[in-house]
Amino acid sequence: DSAVADRRVDSVCPYCGVGCQLTYHVKDDGILFVEGKNGPANQERLCVKGRFGFDYPNHAARLTTPLIRRDGVAKGLDPDFDPAQPLTHFREASWEEALDLAAQGLVDLKAAQGPETLAGFGSAKCSNEEAWLFQKLVRTGFGSNNVDHCTRLCHASSVAALMECIGSGAVTASFMQAANADVVILTGCNPAVNHPVAATFFKQAAKRGTKFIVLDPRGQALDAYAHLSVRFTPGADVSLFNALLNVIVSEGLYDEDYIAEHTEGFEALKAHVAEMTPESMAPACGVDPATIREVARLYATAERAMIFWGMGISQHVHGTDNARCLISLALACGHTGRPGTGLHPLRGQNNVQGASDAGLIPMVLPDYQPVGDAQLRAAFEELWNAPLDEQPGLTVVEIVHAIHDGTIRGMYIQGENPAMSDPDLDHARAALAKLEHLVVQDLFVTETAQFADVILPASSWSEKEGTVTNTNRQVQLGRAAVSLPGEAKPDWWIIQEIARRFGLDWRYAHPREVFAEMKRGMPSLDHITWERLEREHSVSYPCPADDAPGADVVFSDAFPTASGKARFSPTLPLPPDEPIDADYPVVLTTGRQLEHWHTGSMTRRARVLDDLEPAAVASLAPAEARHLDVAPGEPITITTRRGSITLAARVDPAMPEGMVFVPFCYAEAAANVLTNPALDPFGKIPEFKYAAARLSRA
Ligand code: SF4
Repeated sequence: DSAVADRRVDSVCPYCGVGCQLTYHVKDDGILFVEGKNGPANQERLCVKGRFGFDYPNHAARLTTPLIRRDGVAKGLDPDFDPAQPLTHFREASWEEALDLAAQGLVDLKAAQGPETLAGFGSAKCSNEEAWLFQKLVRTGFGSNNVDHCTRLCHASSVAALMECIGSGAVTASFMQAANADVVILTGCNPAVNHPVAATFFKQAAKRGTKFIVLDPRGQALDAYAHLSVRFTPGADVSLFNALLNVIVSEGLYDEDYIAEHTEGFEALKAHVAEMTPESMAPACGVDPATIREVARLYATAERAMIFWGMGISQHVHGTDNARCLISLALACGHTGRPGTGLHPLRGQNNVQGASDAGLIPMVLPDYQPVGDAQLRAAFEELWNAPLDEQPGLTVVEIVHAIHDGTIRGMYIQGENPAMSDPDLDHARAALAKLEHLVVQDLFVTETAQFADVILPASSWSEKEGTVTNTNRQVQLGRAAVSLPGEAKPDWWIIQEIARRFGLDWRYAHPREVFAEMKRGMPSLDHITWERLEREHSVSYPCPADDAPGADVVFSDAFPTASGKARFSPTLPLPPDEPIDADYPVVLTTGRQLEHWHTGSMTRRARVLDDLEPAAVASLAPAEARHLDVAPGEPITITTRRGSITLAARVDPAMPEGMVFVPFCYAEAAANVLTNPALDPFGKIPEFKYAAARLSRA
């Protein structure tokens, strides 16, 4: 039977942070189909991406040889460029020539301009080992901390708030703990679309009696399972959350014993929210006072309650404040540290947790150890036998500005696609075009690779070995199921070759050797070994012993802060950076679709997924469509102060009037041409969830 596999290989889904384990059924070095495996985060379930999105590595446009830009070909997005025929703009090269040219351009810039002239973007789609090597190369080879990745566009503000308030950026409890909760708040997230298998755990919990409260400006599929579904005014999160805190304080619903034993700063919070009554906050957040009181009472009086949030919380100029409020809610009510309680920012990419842990962050070394701490830095200098810069590096959007002002002149971008994912794309793309030397390592000639001087063909998830860490802090092992095509190479091998050309004496022969080195710098990996992962497939951190399961719920006794206590951080409501007005009267918000992942570089090249959602759409309320006089499928133009795109209208009753939603995966109608690059001052995350826009019939 030609459809019978000759091998089965266990691995992990390459898409979202749920971290579903799966089994590749392989025949003749090709994947026949994918099956859900009984992993802790999926229990044999997979969503449409995990089940059908496995064939992108075989796409006709897959890179199989290094490419070098042809002399005289201008950098930039060329509307006539065919990624499947890249040789009009680039020429094929040997690995030796491509690596020499890639590294030499960066080495020369460093020699002429100093270490601050270089920067690197690593990838949350790669393994922990690849993230570790990439940030090590930037810190010890480039000589600065100018290394970042898409966490800056995703949960950087959540991490900033969590680090400040509870001393740890990871979740305090897995999403499986929803089954043990009496009440769950879901806010600024849409799990049925963005974390679909986690959503199945939520649906099961709701069926068994957990009361779900959905707080969001938009409606969603999980509203059908919610005890309460509350729509609030876009951008008014802090007003709503402070009103909830006001009710908890004024009605004495807080947990005095927990607060006394585990927290600091409650008296200041009490005073801070005293005037923020439901009546005073209702006009801003658009929720009636009675509903605000009902939500506060439900959450505060529950024996066990959890809060989950997504990028509807984090991607605002007040994203860190939003997360601070949610943390205050949990601390005030004693809802952490026990089964069925906790704080859980649902992570986006399959390895954004692990890539952050492994140090793809400009202000901290691996395991969030600040670069400015001389003692911690000295430990890494000894581990890596190289001096390290004490200055925090630049973040994603800051790097774009630094290219424009001439500070950054050379970049190495591995597996990220800023020419699609950065806000205000015209500005970001102009920056990429201005770079004197750009090396891109990827599977395809992505929009970003079209700006490159050298393109290095890399490995897809089904072709590589490595560990990943999901939203639950579960470290899992990915295994290679099929061979690399043509001359494509593992990412870790390519990074090592660049490092050697910077004079670094790296001799890793396998990712397990990198993992062993990581364990020497990352206490979070204590008691987790490569061999254990081969045997057990998944171990959560922190893990107390070699034979113990990792912790599903953390901080029962103390928080990892200097005092052992968590800290309340009061916040004031702030307006969006760019409020709507008469010229731009509609709120633009962006995000993902169930079938497509982030910038679409993988899923738009997966046959079934692209068949399911083949074209760019903008979702708007039925009344908004009537107002514009457009029927479903007809084109509309969306304009902001930064640009315009035209795409098909999708009428969606879940959308509130006065708002339009655009997924950011479609290059032909790139949502980020429109988005506002204004940053949250703490997390340095752009305000993707709110820009003032104008709609018109195309
Ligand atoms: Fe993959 Fe996430 Fe879907 Fe699971 S829920 S199959 S990890 S995309």
